[in-house]
Amino acid sequence: MTEEQHMASIVQRTLKTCIPYVGTGLHSGCRIGMLVRPSEVNTGVRFLRNDVPTGRGVIPALWHQVVDTRLGTIIGNEFGISVSTVEHLMAALHGCGIDNAVVELDGPEVPILDGSAEPFVAMIERAGIIDQEAKRWAMLVEETVEVRLDDKVVRLEPCPITRITAEIDFPDTAVGTQRLSTVMTEPVFKRDLARARTFGFADQIEDLYERELALGGSPQNAILIDGDVVVNEEGLRFHDEFVRHKILDIIGDLSLAGVPVIGHFYGYKPGHALNQALLRKFISNEHAWSYVMLDEYENAPGLRRLSDALATTATRVKKAWSRLRVVA
Ligand SMILES: [Zn+2]
Repeated sequence: MTEEQHMASIVQRTLKTCIPYVGTGLHSGCRIGMLVRPSEVNTGVRFLRNDVPTGRGVIPALWHQVVDTRLGTIIGNEFGISVSTVEHLMAALHGCGIDNAVVELDGPEVPILDGSAEPFVAMIERAGIIDQEAKRWAMLVEETVEVRLDDKVVRLEPCPITRITAEIDFPDTAVGTQRLSTVMTEPVFKRDLARARTFGFADQIEDLYERELALGGSPQNAILIDGDVVVNEEGLRFHDEFVRHKILDIIGDLSLAGVPVIGHFYGYKPGHALNQALLRKFISNEHAWSYVMLDEYENAPGLRRLSDALATTATRVKKAWSRLRVVA
């Protein structure tokens, strides 16, 4: 079986056991306790701040909960409670095919770990994954949607499999110009993307510290770049680790659709703000997508193209969105 043919689960999945962890927040520098728990079908991923009054701490991991994207993706609720840096954990859950989970935190940020998604993936694998008795849905891209800002472009376009292409350009630095296009399946995610770490530039550190950001940042949880030099003694995990991390961020950001998105994401200089703007524009445009049940999609005769049968199915289930989400 080739990587393109790897079949995603057609039923929803959750964790078999809980994941307890204590780590440091990248921006707050605080120690934060985390407990990721299994959750029932059709509930998606929800964050729960257990350090705030009961009933105020729930934040569904969905696009319309995004409140800030300047330094990572921050989601919040109507009580002003928020959780920062959700993208790497979200990428790990999504990349491992987890649909439903509760992420309990006793602080305002997901621990940064090593700046990649790999430790989360290892924890998920240790906890185990179980199938649930509900079919899995996906959003199928039907029409191209694009967002541009200056010379940056992000776009979702129809494609029968999930593919992500990213290009970045940081001239005169160790990053330089990098481009990668990859299918997004569980094996590809674990092997090629999960280990890629976040990165930052030495000349921006002072400014971040002054704004009381990146207080927990260190070479243990980010690649530090000083001009054309990688400061970290251990060097890079991939020669193009930077663009791989950008794709990891895209996976985390797109996971806020609430279900897998089947299509091609293209990004030239992508970032959290643009990724979330695209997701918002995409979901707001009801012609741009349709819902499909994955078992019908996988069994459709035109698996490699957007067949008429599929489009019919998609139209039929399109309005299921509002019923699908059970928001606590
Ligand atoms: Zn990141």
